[in-house]
Amino acid sequence: MVYHYCRCCEEKFNGISNVVDHVVDCSSRVSSGDEDILTILIKDNRSKAVKQSKYFLVVEMDSKSDLKPLDSFIRNVWMECCYHTSEFVFEKDSESRVSYYSHADQMQDHHWQPFSSIKIGDKLTKADDRFIYSYDRQPVFGVLLKISKGSMNGKPVRLLARNEPIQFKCVECKKIAGFIDPESHNFYCDNCREENENTIEFDEMSNSPRVGICGYIGDNKPYVRKADRVNKRKSDQLDE
Ligand SMILES: [Zn+2]
Ligand SMILES: [Zn+2]
Ligand SMILES: [Zn+2]
Repeated sequence: MVYHYCRCCEEKFNGISNVVDHVVDCSSRVSSGDEDILTILIKDNRSKAVKQSKYFLVVEMDSKSDLKPLDSFIRNVWMECCYHTSEFVFEKDSESRVSYYSHADQMQDHHWQPFSSIKIGDKLTKADDRFIYSYDRQPVFGVLLKISKGSMNGKPVRLLARNEPIQFKCVECKKIAGFIDPESHNFYCDNCREENENTIEFDEMSNSPRVGICGYIGDNKPYVRKADRVNKRKSDQLDE
């Protein structure tokens, strides 16, 4: 079983939909304020690296924010390798075909606008409003879950939940894999990669739909709950 946890109360949940349903209304999340806070689910549905992707992020942000903070956040936790262009396309824009580009100020096409030009709350106005975010043309999908009153206390984007790191198995022997073939996106263990010279090592901490793609090697962010981090430290001390 795979458990994900709520970053506000640290409760564990089995399955994506259970944790997502919980964080939308988690009572530990309550912050008094009258800002419109957007709760957004970002999901990867067609990663090249894994056939059925289980990567997701749930974040909250101020509706008055422009698109830059969300772009920076997704880059930090999931995407950044060598500063590729990123893009937001909102379902609401489908008729006028406007795209919002990270590097739009350096481009000439009038269908492309810079991230700073748009307030996220103008594009996501009701639950189920959707968008596609791409980095290096790799798309992930976003959906607005809820708008609630609260305060971000000056934080641009806050992480509410994300998937437990996914462990990949070697295609040959089914042991835990630490290497990936960037062409086939097959995973290999240290022994079996010998026959495949093209494999690259990826960080065990990689918890991103971008594992094995371009120069991406992982964000190295700790995933473990604060409570478990303390317990682990205690048990490490006992072992010594
Ligand atoms: Zn919670
Ligand atoms: Zn790259
Ligand atoms: Zn193997």
